[in-house]
Amino acid sequence: MSRLRLIDKATPTAKQAVIERIKQMANPREELQCPRCGCRTYLMIYNGATLQGGKMRHGTELHRCVCENCYKRGTVQSLLPEKLRVVKEPKPRRTKPKLIK
Ligand SMILES: [Zn+2]
Repeated sequence: MSRLRLIDKATPTAKQAVIERIKQMANPREELQCPRCGCRTYLMIYNGATLQGGKMRHGTELHRCVCENCYKRGTVQSLLPEKLRVVKEPKPRRTKPKLIK
């Protein structure tokens, strides 16, 4: 009976090295970026769009901010972070009543 054992991490191929370099590049504007492939293009996927009076109305949203490159390869990878970070702490609520003059 064979036993499972850990092996060393494989050296990245040239393609994987490029992908890792792109993912590590500076992103000062905090553009959404795919954590898998580094792509910054995204898709919004709707089902059941209709034309009402010549205007298009979206149907049901199936996927939001999905990586376009991964989607073409058959993977649904969201560009949105798992947990949205708090940009600014909310102000504490006023407890003291205002003075009336
Ligand atoms: Zn991707």
